[in-house]
Amino acid sequence: MSATSLFEAKGLVKRFGGLLATDHVDITVEPGEIHALIGPNGAGKSTLVNLISGLLPLDEGSLSLDGVELAALAPHQRVRAGLSRCFQVTSVFKSDTVLDNLLLAAQAHAGSSFRFLSRRAAEDVLMETALRLAETVGLADVLGRIAGTLPHGAQRKLDVALALAARPRLLLLDEPMAGMGPEDSLQMVALIEQLRAQTAILLIEHDMDAVFQLADRISVLVYGRVLTSGDASHIKGHPEVQAVYLGT
Ligand code: ADP
Ligand code: MG
Repeated sequence: MSATSLFEAKGLVKRFGGLLATDHVDITVEPGEIHALIGPNGAGKSTLVNLISGLLPLDEGSLSLDGVELAALAPHQRVRAGLSRCFQVTSVFKSDTVLDNLLLAAQAHAGSSFRFLSRRAAEDVLMETALRLAETVGLADVLGRIAGTLPHGAQRKLDVALALAARPRLLLLDEPMAGMGPEDSLQMVALIEQLRAQTAILLIEHDMDAVFQLADRISVLVYGRVLTSGDASHIKGHPEVQAVYLGT
């Protein structure tokens, strides 16, 4: 789109053998935007997230965040450039407490000025950061709990908090409501809505109510291609989308 997009992916191609999993995909995300990506199983959504976060190498195309070219960067370098993702709970250390998970994440992403602090001052900064993250995602009451014993919804919130510890400019969420009941889903929608003030979001989600509620823009991926892009009313009224996706 415009040269001022926060995030720009252009002509992304990924082949698995003869399968074109991602077929020249263009995606932009603007500052403060929630851009949702929907599409049937096998459409290439997770492949796209893996290309963006750097877990899979691109065959063709370019990616930039805030003008920084990402394609040649390793995943951890992309995190430093402002790109963070949730890993569907796999990044949570299940046998550690919620607080220890948050402290570890805060330490991993502490800035370079951090090493000039005294040990005591550094610990205070980490604790402050951990508590702020816990507040943000609504886990301040369960700091002492072993993460693996938390209900599923709370573990997903912790996963979001760990991704936020990197202070992302763009947060990738791959099906944050997967496996959640209605109450947890509502809480996750409220959390994502609240995160809009801190970071732009690329949201992959099957829960269409959540997508229509949250997304400023929705892109529909089918067989590795963007079928159409627009706001909720555009998507709801698009005959091919109804046939391909909403009808299934
Ligand atoms: P989605 O997340 O939209 O369900 P995926 O990105 O997981 O879709 O998959 C897109 C297509 O690429 C599917 O046909 C899938 O079978 C294929 N695919 C995904 N990952 C691999 C892989 N590592 N090796 C081979 N084929 C893959
Ligand atoms: Mg997927």
